[in-house]
Amino acid sequence: MNEHELESMRKVFNNLRKNIEPLSESPKILKLRERVTKIRKDSIDNNEELLQTARQSFKENDIDLFYAEDDKQARDILLNLINEEIASNDNINPDEVFIAKSKSNTLREINASEFLEENGMVIVDTDLGDRILQLKKGDNSPVHPTGPASHLTVQDIADIINESMGLDLPAVPRPIMEAVREDVLSLLSKSYIGISGTNAIAAEDGAFVMVHNEGNISIVQSKKLHIVVAGIEKLVPTIEDCVSIAKLETAYATGKTTTSYMNIVSGPSKTADIEKKLLKNMYGAEKVALILLDNGRKEAIDEALWCIGCGNCIVSCPVYNIVGNTYGYSSYLGGRGIALAKYLKGDEASVDSGLYMCTLCGICTENCPVATPTNEMIENLRDTTQKDGFAREEHKKIRDNINESGSPY
Ligand code: SF4
Repeated sequence: MNEHELESMRKVFNNLRKNIEPLSESPKILKLRERVTKIRKDSIDNNEELLQTARQSFKENDIDLFYAEDDKQARDILLNLINEEIASNDNINPDEVFIAKSKSNTLREINASEFLEENGMVIVDTDLGDRILQLKKGDNSPVHPTGPASHLTVQDIADIINESMGLDLPAVPRPIMEAVREDVLSLLSKSYIGISGTNAIAAEDGAFVMVHNEGNISIVQSKKLHIVVAGIEKLVPTIEDCVSIAKLETAYATGKTTTSYMNIVSGPSKTADIEKKLLKNMYGAEKVALILLDNGRKEAIDEALWCIGCGNCIVSCPVYNIVGNTYGYSSYLGGRGIALAKYLKGDEASVDSGLYMCTLCGICTENCPVATPTNEMIENLRDTTQKDGFAREEHKKIRDNINESGSPY
């Protein structure tokens, strides 16, 4: 990120902080925090049990549940499902496959877009911020979970859209939004496959919850085939738990208590309106599949998996506000992402994501609605990674100097 982008991001974060702070002191939100913290902790403790429950409940609800040990397996399952749909759907031209996609950290973790593009498909990001980043040349990493393009000014965005779409729009939000919407809708009219993440998964109910403001997820989930990719830590017992998590995430991500839409999916589209005979495939997806991803999560410490993805830790993080999204791993931004990187990709990924950039100030922990002890995790990881041989060269020199001469210099 350049200085101009960092400056724009800081302005957006300042405003966001002002919206979130009063809300975070409301008794209702404090109660919700308590409830969700318990849900997250208990669910991580009982993850294996929830997984077994989900296998049964999703089957009963006619949703195909797959388990992927790692990112490669998740990509293979994803591609197989898509290829099966292409082979069985006469409306799809195999040379022109459009995939409707909505925002998902897990899809980014497995590099789904790049992988499907390498397999000849066109990925259409439907979230406005994601679509802007998709059309942006060069670095197109997000800077916040719900405001991925928060580092771009309206002028930057107008330049991106004008250049990529051959337009001459003024730097005004509405015409930009309308131009992107028309373009995305026109591409999606040729799409029969939607891929997304989810905010939380109800193991007992065989359902998952997705929140959004734009209405885009409703489009993605209505394609003939809807595939959801999510980490195993998203499993919680019930739909009520999912809704609580989604509400708290919304509060700490946006400063609002609700989003425009909260979609609960517990099966493919169906009707029994004619003589109570079950008919599949009315308006929504004909087939729904959920790919649950491990990718190192089973080995992770519990605290690294409590996160509900609100992004409030990065908004106040002094390091993130200075260096931006290079501080974090993939879409898992900031200190918590660095801790998670150890389990998803190993010690080196954690060090490269900024393990030694953290000031250990603990502001992230103070601001986390589910009390993720990020600074503690970072401190412990520094200890274990350097014991495993991943100390930085500068630190090794200091250590060697002390060993040789008793002085760090
Ligand atoms: S670690 Fe906490 S504050 Fe940071 S994104 Fe996760 S839930 Fe939000």
